[in-house]
Amino acid sequence: MNPERVAVVGAGAVGLTTAFELATRGVRVTLFERDEPGAGMSGRAAGICYDAYAEDIDVAVADRAMERFRELDGEGDFRFHETPYVFLAREGDDPAISALEEAVEQMQRHDRNVALVDAEALDSYSIQTDDVGVAGVCSNAGWADPKAYIDLLVAKCERASVEFRFGTEVSIRADPPGVAIDDVVTERYDVVVVAAGVFSSRLLENAGYPVALKPYRVQALVADCEYSGPIVYDATDESYLRPHPRGVLAGDGVELAEADLNEWDSTADEWFVSDSLDAVTHRTGTAPKLARAWAGLCGATPDRNPLVGEVTSNIYLAAGWHGHGFMWAPAIGEMLAQQVCGENVLPVSFDPARFEGTESFDVLDGMVLDE
Ligand SMILES: Cc1cc2nc3c(=O)[nH]c(=O)nc-3n(C[C@H](O)[C@H](O)[C@H](O)COP(=O)(O)OP(=O)(O)OC[C@H]3O[C@@H](n4cnc5c(N)ncnc54)[C@H](O)[C@@H]3O)c2cc1C
Repeated sequence: MNPERVAVVGAGAVGLTTAFELATRGVRVTLFERDEPGAGMSGRAAGICYDAYAEDIDVAVADRAMERFRELDGEGDFRFHETPYVFLAREGDDPAISALEEAVEQMQRHDRNVALVDAEALDSYSIQTDDVGVAGVCSNAGWADPKAYIDLLVAKCERASVEFRFGTEVSIRADPPGVAIDDVVTERYDVVVVAAGVFSSRLLENAGYPVALKPYRVQALVADCEYSGPIVYDATDESYLRPHPRGVLAGDGVELAEADLNEWDSTADEWFVSDSLDAVTHRTGTAPKLARAWAGLCGATPDRNPLVGEVTSNIYLAAGWHGHGFMWAPAIGEMLAQQVCGENVLPVSFDPARFEGTESFDVLDGMVLDE
């Protein structure tokens, strides 16, 4: 049975999608956002999307998300730019080469349109391939501007009569579920969905429910140059790039250490900018000029699967994306809305209750080849 009133906390890609999907099922939704929509990590994402996953549940989620992105293409200013995703390992990097070969085999076993190719087969892709040992080419891939997705979902939520409470920071109350504003006024709801990104752990911990989620810092930049090639992930130097209206958007700079939620640096490091521009020159053969650079936080879990499901009675969580939260948002929002409305669709491997929430674990990157 559908709940009557649901509070969603966080107007990022995940919270907005969930709010919209709930509203289309006849639920009265109030969406709380402490800042403005997209002000969290969704507004900082690179917008890369693909279905090149090796695990069956990841494949199913990615598949559905890509289907939704394509359905939304052309609505408002949102565009899904079909672009192949080339992931490569350099000659001599034997561990990366083996991991890539194994990953492609598993992707193919899951019926993904992913080919294992050598450097010569990449000749038509307008990238430099002299150093490539082996590569995977994923055809079901593309990119979208995360801000355009946010704007579209805000408009869709508005049309679906979602109540917006932007500029409102809340804390969580459980048993019965509700949200508190300024820790003073508590509003009760049938269900509360916590989609506050990496800040979800703090919200739930303060409510007495610790969750196994740690933030880690990542960086990206946009550079002016001529580039119209594929999305590229170089597993040897762990960098990526994709075409951008100004030239390229490139990233790496993952710090595999827990960041401090209160004191993290949102500006890009000098070493990152310099290394990334070199990586773009190396791969595209262009002379990129920095337009802007930034840093953000991603959420890690002990097993690199996300935390999506009920944490305690009628309090749901959706976080812990290991850098895949934007590309999964259309599917996760839909699945979470179905679950909240009584359909049992979420996999046990995403269940937040699989962890105590207090265990210690190391942060592992999400954009790797062996998943
Ligand atoms: C540089 C960079 C590049 C990335 N590239 C990609 C990519 O190419 N593809 C991909 O899939 N993912 C990418 N990601 C990851 C992606 O950005 C995240 O996984 C995704 O945006 C998470 O969405 P979300 O809605 O869960 O969280 P967020 O977008 O962070 O939204 C959470 C919202 O909750 C709000 N909030 C927090 N606390 C409260 C509170 N107490 N009360 C009210 N509101 C609150 C915040 O203000 C925020 O707006 C990238 C991330 C970064 C930083």
